[in-house]
Amino acid sequence: MKALLLALPLLALAGPGAAETILVGNLITDAASDPMGPATVLVEDGKIVSITAGIDRTATGDDIIDLGDKTVLPGLIDTHVHLTGDPGGDFWKEATEPGEWGVVVGVKNALKTVKAGFTTVREAGSAGQTAFALRRGTDEGLIAGPRIIAAGPPLAIIGGHGDVSGFLPEINDLLSSGFTCTGAVECTARVRKASRNGSNVIKITATGGVLSQQGRGLGAHFTDDEMTAIADTAHSLGLKVMAHAHGARGVEAAAAAGIDSIEHGTFADEQALRVMKARGTYLVPTLLAFRGVSEGLGTGMYTPVVENKIRMTLSEVGKAVGLAKQLGVPVAFGTDAGVFAHGRNAEEFQMLVDAGMTPREALASATTVAARLLDMEGQIGRIAPGYSADLIAVSGNPLEDAAALQQVDWVMARGQIID
Ligand SMILES: [Zn+2]
Repeated sequence: MKALLLALPLLALAGPGAAETILVGNLITDAASDPMGPATVLVEDGKIVSITAGIDRTATGDDIIDLGDKTVLPGLIDTHVHLTGDPGGDFWKEATEPGEWGVVVGVKNALKTVKAGFTTVREAGSAGQTAFALRRGTDEGLIAGPRIIAAGPPLAIIGGHGDVSGFLPEINDLLSSGFTCTGAVECTARVRKASRNGSNVIKITATGGVLSQQGRGLGAHFTDDEMTAIADTAHSLGLKVMAHAHGARGVEAAAAAGIDSIEHGTFADEQALRVMKARGTYLVPTLLAFRGVSEGLGTGMYTPVVENKIRMTLSEVGKAVGLAKQLGVPVAFGTDAGVFAHGRNAEEFQMLVDAGMTPREALASATTVAARLLDMEGQIGRIAPGYSADLIAVSGNPLEDAAALQQVDWVMARGQIID
């Protein structure tokens, strides 16, 4: 019995009023600043209370955490994950697996994600109430995992990416999430319904997608009127909109409609990125998703329809990132974890660097820039008094070596040490 208990992923017990003193070898408070060297961070009630230069080696007690040989930096943010899913598996499982199973899978993946150093994630589309249940689980400390900003079921056009496809018509109808829409009025209603259900952000599939069974390519799906209605309605409710988009004209149309972030943006060209720059639209590149799917090519993991679409994208991966940097389009870190195994998220950092960003810019994309996209500046993305106690420890200096973030040695999420 004792062994069983120890095998469970336990949160460190830290009740209200719990205070911890963290001794840090080298502290990075902000991706924009240089490391401040040895420092002492005081944490209380899940918040950072103070930061002082130097380490007091005479300090002792249970509440001292000695990371004197580590670099400590803000907890990482992944703005595009799908916790309730794992890669692969036959598409028809959609017809056989209940939403409840997604929550079980999500509990496993929430732990993997936070252990990898990601203390906040944006859930970019999942079935029914699954992401909302997970969000509550980590908020209330019942399960170990990151803070979850959840979209819930994505809005899609009938038969488009995000809708059910690949089955007999009557089965497609039966499995549909209830979040497809046609015309501005219906799309407005779906945004309001998502808001009522508990979405923190509205996810739409603005163009075709790679992993769905729909075979109509990767071009624009929604009309301009529909996307404008979605963006305006969401904004009126205080919600942002994230749009899955591959094709250049679909990216451009989504940005012009006022969508807040373009997810993937695979074929985004200069014309599309100039509109994004003008509208303040973020790019969330999810480069790791393409590495993930390319690993599955030719293995029988994907149907021929999907294999074709994967092959269409591979030569384009990363090009939009370099162009976005040139044009001053903000890039926020997001991976599409779930398309590949959860926990690998930090591989994206080196891919961003290979695409033209500096390690410092890559770290900013997963801290301060992501926090701004989530409207959570002042809460996460920095180590500063009053901020959430989201901290991670690594060896080496991620401001010089982006790959250093692939091995995270210690994590504190909202003041809880993840064991
Ligand atoms: Zn996705």
